[in-house]
Amino acid sequence: MPNAVRMHDEQAAFLSLEALVWRDGPVCPHCGESSRLGRLSGLSTPIGMWKCYACRKPFTIRHGTIFQNSHVPMHVWLQALYLLTATGERISSQRLGQILGVSVRTAWHLKTKITTGLDAAKELPGSWLSESVVKRVLREPFPDSPAPLQPGQAVCKARYERFLAVTASAAHHLDDTVFLAALHRLLRGSGTSADPRDEVFEQQLELSLFDEPAGREGGADDEGGR
Ligand SMILES: [Zn+2]
Repeated sequence: MPNAVRMHDEQAAFLSLEALVWRDGPVCPHCGESSRLGRLSGLSTPIGMWKCYACRKPFTIRHGTIFQNSHVPMHVWLQALYLLTATGERISSQRLGQILGVSVRTAWHLKTKITTGLDAAKELPGSWLSESVVKRVLREPFPDSPAPLQPGQAVCKARYERFLAVTASAAHHLDDTVFLAALHRLLRGSGTSADPRDEVFEQQLELSLFDEPAGREGGADDEGGR
């Protein structure tokens, strides 16, 4: 399903964003190279990482956006953006944190970055949505897997099921085009490089991203991302 934004896990999120931004194939954000590029896929390589063999630098689709340097997974960003834009509802940081399975502090950070990012992004021509190959948002159940889910996938699945439940309850007034326009502004319209202070803040967030809820001890297996 290439022509839709998917956000049930990290792989799907990156592939969706790449299809959205690199309509004519990937481009190195450092030097502009478009042919001598390769996707890095080692076991320890983060999802979505590419390497440019012209300038030797690695990059991802997050480069130069508010998502750069973020330790928050891209599918979590996308779900946050969807909830904050397409539902048309005011969602508190506490509620957002509950749905996404992140701390209130992380949820507050996501909200703030998204709001300020959208404010700072330049207005884009209204024709973008009609030109884009990606015009839909896929909200289907988490894909079935023949193998037992790894702990990380189980966290993803539980998160996505909470996300689907919220969007189902708001289904009568969901507007995917508001989300897609916001996403495009954040990916293409800002033109600003990432704030270096973000890196420090993100490192602090990383520690709190998978906080256990109060009253539980140890065992981050099943709902560890909550
Ligand atoms: Zn390059």
